[in-house]
Amino acid sequence: MSVPTPSLTVRNVRLPPAAYRALNLDTDATAPLVDLDYIAANDAVEVHLTPHDASVEQRFDPAQPFASTIRIDAADDARRGVAREAAERRLVGRFPSPTSTPAAAPRCIDARGSLGIPGGLCHPHIHLDKCFLLDRCTLSDGTFSEALTATASAKAEFTHDDLVARGRRLIAASLSHGVTSMRAFVEVDPTVGLRCVEAGIALQAEFADRCHVQLVAFAQDPLFYPDAAKQQRMHQLLRHAAQSRQVDVVGSAPYVESSPEGDAVQQKTQQRRNIDFVFKLAEEFGKHVDFHLDYDLDPPGAAAEGREAMLPYVLGLSRGRSWDVRGQTRRVTIGHCTKLSVYTEGDIAALCEGVAEGVSVVALPPSDMYMQGRDQPYASRSRATLPLLELHKTLRLSWAMGVNNVANLFTPQGDADPLAMLPCMVGVWQSAKPRDCETLLNAVSTSARYAAGFTCSYDDAAVWADLTLLDGASGVQDAVCAPPFGRLTIAKGSMVAQRTIHSTLF
Ligand SMILES: [Zn+2]
Repeated sequence: MSVPTPSLTVRNVRLPPAAYRALNLDTDATAPLVDLDYIAANDAVEVHLTPHDASVEQRFDPAQPFASTIRIDAADDARRGVAREAAERRLVGRFPSPTSTPAAAPRCIDARGSLGIPGGLCHPHIHLDKCFLLDRCTLSDGTFSEALTATASAKAEFTHDDLVARGRRLIAASLSHGVTSMRAFVEVDPTVGLRCVEAGIALQAEFADRCHVQLVAFAQDPLFYPDAAKQQRMHQLLRHAAQSRQVDVVGSAPYVESSPEGDAVQQKTQQRRNIDFVFKLAEEFGKHVDFHLDYDLDPPGAAAEGREAMLPYVLGLSRGRSWDVRGQTRRVTIGHCTKLSVYTEGDIAALCEGVAEGVSVVALPPSDMYMQGRDQPYASRSRATLPLLELHKTLRLSWAMGVNNVANLFTPQGDADPLAMLPCMVGVWQSAKPRDCETLLNAVSTSARYAAGFTCSYDDAAVWADLTLLDGASGVQDAVCAPPFGRLTIAKGSMVAQRTIHSTLF
């Protein structure tokens, strides 16, 4: 029996091992390639998958060492929709039809054995409003306090058009990298009011069919100012933003709270008040929770001295409280948490006693390694970002990784490519074992989607709406250790970005 004509066919895709496992297919060297057909069905699009044993010969061409291998194959259009063996063809995906499709989108792509990531890459933590500020801020000592002060000054000059232009550049660059979903932080405070949120909502609508831009109403500033009128204004603004139907998350950075006398114990009390406030607001309006937490390299110590970590407090609140966000269980997500890099085995064992469901921790290595440990001797400095590969094995939470910032004083380096972090982290965390490479790739794809509260399992039909092809990558280890610059991004069943590489030796 023939299949209805697909709107898009992607042939010869190699999948990550977890996807093969979900499909009950071999995951070893004999794993089959698959063809994917996207077929309109009423108000939805179905994804049909056909595994096959046809091999694709990839010979290294010394005259074109990095050239793209994926082909847009117009001549192959006639072969689309050919009858497939019903026994081999499976329905794996189903998602609502997009409201629009790119007019010039191709209908047949030959991946030629390249690795494809169902669900696409994901930013679990990225600041949409303070990207591309490097040329507006003076960089002198490079410290965190300089970054906070200089960025606060730059924020005072933000306009709607400026925010939209810089945010658009960030989302477009991310699409080109293969990112089809992101948790985007937009700040709320008396300086910017709701301007960043409004720009985020405009960008969310502009990219709706190409990239899922989830918004966090984020308090980078303290929630408890000494100035009562300013504090009231801050609370009103955050409450207003949290009510918006386009905002799915409420977040804060408790470590920025101060105590009137500079007392460490009082400062931790203020941090707990900040956390309580955000939890209460998120629960009231049915939103996820996201904290920038424990952003230092001081070992956890006694509460009586104000040296305790905040992570156990957040885990404690998470254990007791759950609610739904758009029909899914709320997520509690924690960014940075660099303090985990100096935990002893005993500290980790104590944390294991108090894990909670639906909690993710997101390492942000580009920022963490750039900013942390500057006052310590180089030879004895911690690696400054949490040890994701170790913690993934010992602490039963979900572990993801994000770029955090792009081109500002918090993180001057990088261009929003999640894969570009991975070779460096293979060195920092000292493993390229196949299973560890899977963990690293998951940290910027499936685990990142979990942290942001998106569907993430390969068993979930909605995940197959998006697919990021890593041009020429022969497997997960290859993609992690030397990610290809060539990419092809499919969102909601249409190709939305392609980056090809011309590479010629003369
Ligand atoms: Zn951040």
